[in-house]
Order: sequence, then C-alpha cells, then structure tokens
Amino acid sequence: MTFLRYPSPRYFSQCSRRFSTPIKVAIVGTGPGGFYTAHHLLNKSSADKVIHIDFFEKLPTPFGLSRYGVAPDHPEVKNCEEFLTNLMKHFKLSSSSASASALKQEQRHKVRFLGNVEVGKDLKLANLEKYYNSIVLAYGSTSSDNKLSIPGSNLPGVIPARQFVNWYNGHPDCYKKGEEYIPPALEKIEDVTIIGNGNVAIDVARILLADPKRHWAQTDIAVDAEKLLEQSKVKNVRIVARRGILESAFSNKELRELLELKDAKFLPLSQPELLQVLATKKLDRVAKRRLSLLEKYNNTLETTSNKDKRTWSLEYLQSPVEFLAADNGKLEATKFVKNKAIDDPLLPGQIAPTDEHVVVKNELVILSIGYQGTPIGGFEELGIWFDKNKLHNKGGRVLLKKSAGENDANLTYKKGWYTSGWIKNGPKGAIATTMMDSFDTAENILKDLTNGNYIQVDDGQDILESDELPKEKEIVYWSNWEKLNEYELEKGKELGKQRYKVCNKQDMLNVCKA
Ligand code: FAD
Ligand code: NAP
Repeated sequence: MTFLRYPSPRYFSQCSRRFSTPIKVAIVGTGPGGFYTAHHLLNKSSADKVIHIDFFEKLPTPFGLSRYGVAPDHPEVKNCEEFLTNLMKHFKLSSSSASASALKQEQRHKVRFLGNVEVGKDLKLANLEKYYNSIVLAYGSTSSDNKLSIPGSNLPGVIPARQFVNWYNGHPDCYKKGEEYIPPALEKIEDVTIIGNGNVAIDVARILLADPKRHWAQTDIAVDAEKLLEQSKVKNVRIVARRGILESAFSNKELRELLELKDAKFLPLSQPELLQVLATKKLDRVAKRRLSLLEKYNNTLETTSNKDKRTWSLEYLQSPVEFLAADNGKLEATKFVKNKAIDDPLLPGQIAPTDEHVVVKNELVILSIGYQGTPIGGFEELGIWFDKNKLHNKGGRVLLKKSAGENDANLTYKKGWYTSGWIKNGPKGAIATTMMDSFDTAENILKDLTNGNYIQVDDGQDILESDELPKEKEIVYWSNWEKLNEYELEKGKELGKQRYKVCNKQDMLNVCKA
C-alpha cells in the first residue's frame, strides 16, 4: 500500500506567500560578489518566485574592485560590469516610483541601486531584518591590508599596495579635498622594492615600469596619477618573495605580460640555480609553463635597444627584517634575511631563515602582501561570526558565533543571512572564481527560499519610506550613476581616454545631481 503524504498547512501558507508576494533581498556591496549573486538569483529562481533586490553601496559608484582594483590597462576584465548594468536595465525600478506600492504592484523581479549608503554606518545592519527576507553581505575586503611589524615599517617610504592601487585607480579615499593622499614622490625615486609577488604586485610593477604616455594615458587611470608617472624617475623595480619560484603567487598570464613589456627589461634571476633545481622535479602544467617563461627571458641579452630601459627583477627566498632610514629620516634601504626551502615532502613550500642577510638600496617599498577583510558595525549585536579575514559561513550561509566549548558539528546558521565574494572566503580569487562562488551562495539562498527558511517581514514596508536612512543622505540611484557614467565617458573621449574618472566624492555627487 502506498501512503500519500500531504503537505502541512504551513507548506500551503508558504506557497501562497511565494506566489503572491515578492521576496525582498538586500545585497550589501556592488562588486562582483554582489552582482553575480543577484544575477544567479534572478536568472535561476523558479517561475513562482518574484524577487526584489536592493543593492546597498558605500560609494557613489558601483562595481567594487572592477572599477577600483583591476588595472587600467585591462579594460576587457571590466566587461564583468555588464552583468550589473544589464540587471539594472532589465529589472530596474526608477527611483521616483520605487515606493512600496510600486514594488507590490509589479509582479516581476526588480532591482534598485542605493549608492552612497554605507551599511553599518548610515544604516544600522540589524534594521535590514525589518525589510528583507534575505540579506547578502558582499562588501569585499578593501578597507584594510596585511601589515609587517618589523623595524622601519612606519617610515613614510613604506606604503601598502592597496593605497597605491586606490591612488592610480582614482578611489575617492585618496582624493578627499583638504586631506588628499600624498602619493610617493616618484619624480625623485629610482629604486623601488615590492614585497610579495601576487598579481597585485605585478599590476603595481607594470604601473611603475610601462611608459605613461604610450601605455597609460589613454586608459581610465586617474589623471593625477598619470601626470605623476610622466615625471617618474624610477629605474629599477624588484619584486621580492619570501618563498621559492614554485610558490610564486602571480599567475602565468600576468607574468608573461610583464616579461613582454616593451618599456622595461627583465634582469636575469640573481639565483639562477633555483631554475636548475626545479628542472629535476616533477612539475604540474602551470609550474612547467612558469619555468619555461622564466628560462626563456632569463637569457635575454643586453642590446643597444634595451640598454637604457627601466629594469625589473624577481627575487626569491628573502624576507624583509628591517627598513633602514638615512640621516634625513627617509627610507634608503631594506634588509632581508635569506631563506632556504625546507626539502620535506610533508611540508611543501615551507621555508626557514638562514644566517645570511642582504641589504638593498630603495627609496620606496610597496607592501603587496594581501588585503584584509574587516567586520562592519553590527555583527556583535546580531551574533554574526567574523574573525581574521572573513565571515564564517557554510556555502555562503552566515554562521552564528560559536559559544565556548561548542564544536564545529553543531554550528548554527544566522537565518536569512548570506555572504559572497572576498568577505566570504578571504581576500583572494580572481573575478571568475568570485563569480562561481557567488553562484553557490545564490543557489543556497534559492534552496532556503523554497524551504521557507527566510526572515519574516512586514510586506508593506519599504526602507526608502522609513526613517532608517539619515534625512540628509544623498542616495545615488542608478539613474544618478548613469549621469556620472555618461559624464566620465564623454569627458574621457575629449581627452583621448577610455574614461575620465571623477575622483573626489563630492564632485561625483555634484555630477550625479546635475
Ligand atoms: P569588491 O569588488 O571589493 O566589492 C565590494 C563592494 O562593497 C565595493 O563596491 C565596496 O565599496 C562595497 N562596500 C564595502 N563596505 C560597504 C558597506 N559597509 N556598505 C555598503 N557597501 C560596502 N580579478 C581578475 O579576475 N582580474 C583582474 O585583473 C583583477 N585585478 C585585481 C586588482 C586588484 C588590485 C585587486 C585587489 C583585485 C583584483 N582582482 C582581479 C580580483 C577581483 O577584483 C575580486 O575577485 C573581486 O572584485 C571580489 O569581489 P567582491 O564583490 O567580493 O569585492
Ligand atoms: P596574493 O595573491 O595572496 O599574494 C600575496 C603575496 O604576499 C604572496 O606572495 C605572499 O607570499 C606574500 N606575503 C604575504 N604575507 C607576507 C609576509 N608577511 N611577508 C612577506 N610576504 C608575504 O594577494 P594579492 O596579490 O593581493 O592578490 C589578491 C587576489 O586578487 C589574488 O587571488 C589575485 O590572483 C587576485 N588578482 C588577480 C589579478 C588578475 O587576475 N590579473 C590581478 C590582481 C589581483 P606567500 O605565498 O609566501 O604567503
């Protein structure tokens, strides 16, 4: 005999809710983590679901690190921005009609962009629960970076890559009127050391090495940065890693781009024996390719045509131990300890310091040793578990802070709260990785919506009709951003640039309002 299992009355009430009322989702952050989550939610939700998404963005501009991280000479990477632009085109609610009644009437997916709103500061995080069934934290990891606590770290010539990147990409944090960020005096500097050899280090090296007029001027690089690069006296850039060649954090594509740069010459490895040792090892395809690239360019001879070029080098197995100042207090050198690789198959990639040191002349050190995720205000109150670099989560579902003695087997989810992008996994991963991972988060949100695992809210409430946001707050809607976008593209055309970036926040708001 077969038994028919009837759904519970709760099931029917959930179904009717799903059919009649839009699911409201808040996404904090409009970088790839945020917009790929939204894309998947709207494209993969079942026909019975209507989803209304509000994006909250701290800056007046969307796109996160696509606008403020990706190097200006990689415009093709920024094509990812079309995902958000297309969502806004297809599903937007104009700001003026974005009222609760409008949201209710339209039984289709809708998306709103609320820029210049910093969640945790302009808007209390916990209050999102009054308006949204699901909340996705996708605010990235760009407000801090890893530090080196060694003598001399505080010298003005030792700067984080994050700040340097923000400067050349025109991030408003570097262009505050009256308290502008002072970029390194490139017009006086010859020797630069970059610590760390990830892809950010390679981007920074390319900025310093490529010819500004030929390579940078026509990109969307900040105009002030390009002007300073034109005056740059930088002659030599060293990229120094604490581990060996196999542990290089850059990808081969980025390495090859730097090796092929017409304006700079790659200096032979100061430790060529590293290549020989590796030739005897069993390597995977990526490592083999890296090695063959390095071998090829390691033997480039000096010619009259490359004699006066800027030079750059890759240094391995060296850790900085002190930044040294001259009598005038300015940075003049870095002292490194030489490391040796521990040849233990159980500890691949491990190193140990030797007694040998080397001192290298440099007037500028750029620390490219990783970005750092930080919590936003309100996690304590909500019990959300953040430590080190990221939000604790399982498949993007945010976890509640463990109580003392609690083991990982019975961790609890914070119902309706999710995370995507760098703040989900720590500050690592290219855009393609971020995309796939954001789809995973979205998939779990959809599952939870189907199973009734979401925050219950009063459907009639619209955050824009509440007093949650300060009255004087100038919210940047998508239509405002479109004005700024048009202005930047138009002015860029006049100047022969892909885009002229407005860098100061108030200037941006003025264009948005115009
Ligand atoms: P982000 O892109 O940082 O987006 C987070 C967004 O949240 C930002 O817009 C931020 O303003 C906003 N936000 C922060 N706090 C709040 C708040 N409290 N309230 C509201 N909004 C908030 N990958 C590639 O594939 N190719 C590249 O060429 C490439 N270049 C890179 C260059 C650099 C210098 C860096 C650092 C990374 C680069 N990446 C590149 C990696 C890529 O940028 C990341 O994978 C991706 O941007 C991570 O997306 P995200 O949404 O998690 O974070
Ligand atoms: P990263 O790839 O993690 O590289 C960090 C580097 O810093 C590594 O070489 C690391 O060495 C070193 N480091 C860390 N702590 C150190 C310390 N205390 N002392 C000395 N060295 C230290 O980080 P990233 O370069 O900031 O890039 C972040 C992410 O963005 C990466 O996933 C990257 O691929 C992505 N990105 C992609 C592109 C692109 O696709 N074109 C461009 C930029 C960024 P160890 O390995 O020894 O720890």
